[in-house]
Amino acid sequence: MNIGKLVKKEVASLRAYSAKEIACRVKLDANESPYGFETALDAALAVKTNRYPDPEAKALKKVLARDCRVMPENILLGNGSDELICYLIETFGGPVLYPVPTFSMYGIIAQALGEQKVEVPLDAAFDLDGPAMLSAVRRARPKLTFLSSPNNPTGNCFSSERILPLIEATKGLVVVDEAYQPFASERGFLPLLKDYPNLIILRTLSKTGLAALRLGYMIASPDIVEQVNKVRLPFNVNALTQAVAVKALQERKKLKESVNKLVAERDRLYGEMERMARVTPFLSEANFILFRVHDPEAVYDGLLRKGVLVRNMNDAAAGCLRVTVGTPEDNSAFLSALGKVLESTKRRVQ
Ligand code: PMP
Repeated sequence: MNIGKLVKKEVASLRAYSAKEIACRVKLDANESPYGFETALDAALAVKTNRYPDPEAKALKKVLARDCRVMPENILLGNGSDELICYLIETFGGPVLYPVPTFSMYGIIAQALGEQKVEVPLDAAFDLDGPAMLSAVRRARPKLTFLSSPNNPTGNCFSSERILPLIEATKGLVVVDEAYQPFASERGFLPLLKDYPNLIILRTLSKTGLAALRLGYMIASPDIVEQVNKVRLPFNVNALTQAVAVKALQERKKLKESVNKLVAERDRLYGEMERMARVTPFLSEANFILFRVHDPEAVYDGLLRKGVLVRNMNDAAAGCLRVTVGTPEDNSAFLSALGKVLESTKRRVQ
């Protein structure tokens, strides 16, 4: 039986999101935090395994609402923010507008759901191309515009002078995906929610030490939350996640310290890479750095042979790799491996 023939045409032409397990000594490929919250795991022991989780995750929403200074009615939880991207596109449909390169799931989910994708290249500084985005808004009339800020994989925040006119011009909704906001020097768009009824903020716990839990959250007006909640699968956030997240989120000091350490290490990494010949790092407001090299495939393979796993971004951003900021030891191992690999690829080129 040819299963391929049964598949919807939109899915047949898709490539699965690449999240391979590759054995390595230093794992710097997935924008995770090297600092976990294992101390919160004992909260899972109180979970009754025979019962469904709280469908509304009331305790968890209460903690998040307090942290974000919003009401629980402003929050919708997802099994990772990936799930919320899916729910948003299911609820509102397309066209779905986003700049490129950016987080690949906006396009993958839009396509899988049969919605039209509208992709607009970023400008040379990786900022939004203001006029091109505005013209796409007028021409395509997107129901949803996704803006990852800080942007994955480029690492920069889009300038608010380019985001705000989009929110004002579109008749649809604008989703500012703030997965990396904790690492940014700017405050993000949360304070603007009350001024813009078509603004949605996406956040996640995945980048700050809790990727294993799969917890993303959306903050928006209660009207938007009510609509998106209609497509939410029952019990989408499991009981173990709810219990552990509530406990981990109380550890605010530890969270702040780990973010501060990563930001300091990111700036050290950037400085060291900037001093290296044949590497162009791009300034980052996130927990990773995009960098350009002469031969990305050879550098990627060379790093992996030395036990260092980074992400090959050559398809999305020509010549580029992305390294996640890890512990000081892991970052030093990366820098030393990169230096050696660049030296050996240079010899081969000569
Ligand atoms: N948005 C962006 C911009 C991301 O980079 C990621 C993770 N790669 C996500 C959303 C998804 O995060 P989560 O783990 O919450 O599904």
